[in-house]
Amino acid sequence: MKKDENIESRRNVLRTLGIGSAAGTLGLFGFSSANAKDKETPAYAKGTAPVTIKNVKAIATSPSNANLIVVKVETSEPGLYGLGCSTFTQRASVVVTAINDYLAPFCKGKDVDNIEDMWNSFYIDSYWRNGPVLNNVLSGLDQALWDIKGKRAGMPVYQLLGGKSRFAIPVYARTGGSIQEVADNVNRFKEEGYQYVRMSSPSLTDDSYVPDFKKAGYGYAGDRYFHPQKYIKSVIELFDTVRKQCGDEIDLMHDIHEKIQPMEAIQLINSVEQYRPFFMEDPLSPENQGWWPQLRESTNVPISMGELFNNINEFLDPIANRYFDYIRCHVSQIGGITPAMKIARLGEFFGVRTAWHGPGDVSPVGHAAHAHVDMAIWNFGVQEGRIFPEAEQEVFPGSPTTTNGYMHLNDKPGIGVDIDEKLAAKYPIRLRGYNQIRNADGTIIRP
Ligand code: MG
Repeated sequence: MKKDENIESRRNVLRTLGIGSAAGTLGLFGFSSANAKDKETPAYAKGTAPVTIKNVKAIATSPSNANLIVVKVETSEPGLYGLGCSTFTQRASVVVTAINDYLAPFCKGKDVDNIEDMWNSFYIDSYWRNGPVLNNVLSGLDQALWDIKGKRAGMPVYQLLGGKSRFAIPVYARTGGSIQEVADNVNRFKEEGYQYVRMSSPSLTDDSYVPDFKKAGYGYAGDRYFHPQKYIKSVIELFDTVRKQCGDEIDLMHDIHEKIQPMEAIQLINSVEQYRPFFMEDPLSPENQGWWPQLRESTNVPISMGELFNNINEFLDPIANRYFDYIRCHVSQIGGITPAMKIARLGEFFGVRTAWHGPGDVSPVGHAAHAHVDMAIWNFGVQEGRIFPEAEQEVFPGSPTTTNGYMHLNDKPGIGVDIDEKLAAKYPIRLRGYNQIRNADGTIIRP
């Protein structure tokens, strides 16, 4: 008989005799009885029994037009499951396939507790890694395992990440339209209690304008026109008007969206410096990262960056060199809460703060995941806010809420957001259009 079997056999004898606890406590047979340990363990510390993954599936839905993908991890514990956001809205069905065909069989039977181990093992299981599809799959798994861990602990996830660093999460509102519409909306947001507003660029043309490439029959029906210098001029006018009409106290941002060349971005950022932007977003495309030193030496305007980064290692050099001030990545795109915590902690050492990407193509589960990290880390900067449309709130009960410019979590154990699968099925995902943005001569503009 092996040693472990021998001990278990002796425990069974004790249990049969009904003296296990006393014997174990007294050390009668030279070992501690399991029964004694059970009785000594308070109820609040009993959440650590092994739980394994029974099933993993993708849930695809689009209650407010954006294709949303959620991973559901079901466990050996009846009723215990976790949800995570895997949304890659532009290539949604590929993510669904990767979850159902690869993640599900990979996970079955594995322990739900070891998030770091699960993350790393799935990360390298495909050998080639860091693509947007598989990183979103990883994010769904990662967030779902944090959700399960919180449910098992009876705590919101932010408690497991270190507890609160703030009472709620300051968010920025977003607005676009004509320059006057933006100014009116900024004043409205101020009245609603927002401290931060991000302003989209005003439209450069009306619907009747036909750009040269369309006159020449080049490109496709849905393609849009972009003119860098007109854009730069319009953004300067936008800042000037909004500062004049909305005052100095509101914090303003603008997303360049990598649409202009590096020197044009530097020119624009310099021109709006007098209006004190809270940050200017994504000035350089992933292909133009070598321009950071020049950009930094040219302006004092804070910069946010990283929306198009997939690999958390892409943040290492920019953060270590303090090239930007706000980490602005798409948390599901880098693989979930676990890698987000790593780059947030890295940023803390270099005075770089967070501003996670929070658009409509992140599910409420994903927004809540951002919020849990936002609550816990010290070097939080600001969060892109979202008021969830009613249909989205119905599909995702427990979605975060926003009042007076602050996002609030519901404080339920785990991530705190559920999904109504029957309702989700009523909003099937669909193929998005392939509209491009082009210069007057038809050249593709890279976002
Ligand atoms: Mg952006």
